Parts: sequence; structure tokens; C-alpha cells
Amino acid sequence: MKEFSVPDVSATIIPVTPFQQNCTLLWCEKTKKAAVVDPGGDLDRIREAIAQSGVSVEKIILTHGHIDHAGGAAELREDLGVPVEGPHEADRFLLERLAEQGQVYGFPARAVTPDRWLKEGDTVTVGDLTLDVLHCPGHSPGSVVLVSPAQRFALVGDVLFQGSVGRVDLPGGDGKALIASIKDKLLPLGDDIAFICGHGPMSTIGQERQTNPFLQGEGLL
Ligand SMILES: [Zn+2]
Ligand SMILES: [Zn+2]
Repeated sequence: MKEFSVPDVSATIIPVTPFQQNCTLLWCEKTKKAAVVDPGGDLDRIREAIAQSGVSVEKIILTHGHIDHAGGAAELREDLGVPVEGPHEADRFLLERLAEQGQVYGFPARAVTPDRWLKEGDTVTVGDLTLDVLHCPGHSPGSVVLVSPAQRFALVGDVLFQGSVGRVDLPGGDGKALIASIKDKLLPLGDDIAFICGHGPMSTIGQERQTNPFLQGEGLL
């Protein structure tokens, strides 16, 4: 598990599922209220991280509908008695298919209907923190990115990675839309924004602007 902290905010990153997806337990230091972002599976490890940090989980947040991010959300919602917020409703078809995807990939997953769909311009709170919602289609049609402008960090799901971008060959994927989401919505957030992504190490918007091979093309910057 990796730790992340900026003033007033801490997070523990818990790799889950055979896809090593970065489930993130994120909390407000002032209130010790927390959100579990993308509980794809391996719920025992997530429960252990919650117990170790001593925080009170008030919601589950989903960045998009893929199994490694959302497969454990229904069960964790039942366990904790908290609502599921996100992703955008365009990923409804993915969330409805999670049980069959679990059979394909060989790990348990259940379909989930969020308590709240998110759209561009919405905000999500965690304790005293406020995260802005950006709808960033491309990797999946309903992918959302959550940004804290005050604390200068973002949760980007599978939209952008250190040195790469989300794959676009899955159902509903769209390469042009993905690059437009990154160019029009993520790069303008500012180079100093640190981000936690769905797989692999953290990075910053500035590092990716300068070095990410997918963002160096003509007409992009
Ligand atoms: Zn994904
Ligand atoms: Zn993923």
C-alpha cells in the first residue's frame, strides 16, 4: 500500500484485483471522513486499510464502470451502508454487466446501480473536502475525473497514466474523445496538480504534459 498526503487530505492506495487497480481510500484530515474510490475487489484488503486508518467511510466513489474499479462496489455498499456516487450515467451498461464480466475474468463481481450519477460541473464532498467532477469520456463513455482545486490533486481513473493513457479498445472506447478529454479538461487544470490514477504510479499534469508520448502529437498542445 502506498500513502499520499497533501495539507488536509490523506490517502492510502490499495492495489486490488488481478489488474492491480489502485483502489484509493481518501479522507479529510479535519473530519476523518473518508471515501473509498474504485473498490474493484479484494474487499478484505480494503476493510483492513479502513480499520488501520481509523477513518469513517461516508461514501463509495466510482470513476468508471470497469470491473477492476467497480466489481466490489455493491458488496461494499451493503457492508458499510453508504451510498455509491458516480460514474456518469453513460457507463450504466458496464455496471449492469459486472457479474458476467466477473465470470470472464475469474473473480467475483456484482452489478451495481449508483445512488447518484455524476455529470460535468457536479461536486462530490468527502468530509470538508470538495471535489469537482469532470466528465472525461474516451476510455469509457462515462468516465469521470475528480479534482480538488484547493488541494491541487485529482483522481483520474483510467483516463491518464504516468507515461500512458487509458486503452480505448473496450466497449464504448473512443480514442479521439479520450485525447480531447485530456487536452480540454485535464491539461488546463495546471502543471502542479498531482494525480492518482487507476494503475501504476502517481504523476503530475506537468510531467505528463512534458513527457507523455501520447500527448506530444501535432495540434495537441
Ligand atoms: Zn478502465
Ligand atoms: Zn482499470
